[in-house]
Amino acid sequence: MVTLIDLGRYTQDEESAETYLRDHGLLKSYSQCPYCGCTHLGHIRRQRLKCYGCRREWGIRKGSIFERSQVPFSTLLLAVKLFELDMSTREAARQLGLAYNTVYRLHHLFRTAILSIAEDAASLKGEIELDESYFGGRRKGKRGRGAAGKVPVFGILERGGKVRVEVVQNVKGETLLELTIKKVKRGSLVYTDRFQSYNGLVSYGFRHKRIDHSKRFANGKVYINGIEGFWSFAKQRLIKYHGVDPARFPFYLKELEFRYNYRDMDLFDQLIETLGEYARVAVTE
Ligand SMILES: [Zn+2]
Repeated sequence: MVTLIDLGRYTQDEESAETYLRDHGLLKSYSQCPYCGCTHLGHIRRQRLKCYGCRREWGIRKGSIFERSQVPFSTLLLAVKLFELDMSTREAARQLGLAYNTVYRLHHLFRTAILSIAEDAASLKGEIELDESYFGGRRKGKRGRGAAGKVPVFGILERGGKVRVEVVQNVKGETLLELTIKKVKRGSLVYTDRFQSYNGLVSYGFRHKRIDHSKRFANGKVYINGIEGFWSFAKQRLIKYHGVDPARFPFYLKELEFRYNYRDMDLFDQLIETLGEYARVAVTE
């Protein structure tokens, strides 16, 4: 866990912040020249390296996810903390003394990292709840037909585990089945409501129980209250972004999934780890 006291140490000067970022894989450690491979390198000025083989120079942000940012390393770490604490872009910009757009780009980078980290295939197992929900739009739409202007989202929740949500083109059986097969181990016990798109789960090797909402809300263990809890968490939170641009919606949705899944853990550590993973995949080419 990284408290504000810890953060005070990591951000007391640029060197400390640089070390923290490098130790967590967010800055490259150059042991050889990226141009000629020579290993005879030196620091010339602050935050610049030089190769004594080919005599080229480069900044220490080269090849990192912060390559195009000029925000000081200590401020970057503070920005991660404020994002963890769920501060709005506008307020974070005020607190950090940065332009709104600068903080907006950082937040977008954090969300991109969250969206891009790979999940293990078929990692959810045991007792699973499946459900779909519609986001955005003002009109109350019907399921499937009549939900124009709304974005359908498919959710899979492992009881006592994580939730996975995904924006989908439609809520047809094949769409939902394909995602279920991708994310859930065969043999798992899957709970759904009576929506017809969930027909066919059994033929793909899942055990399947349905809850009839029109009769009773929950019948013993046959309920989908877990995933419905996520929908209300997500919808309450999205009210504060009223009118999220549909192109950005998947980023906000994955941020919510991330916050929900790590709600009992230290989000700062998780964010740094996620950025580190993203750095490895995003910057290798
Ligand atoms: Zn060189």
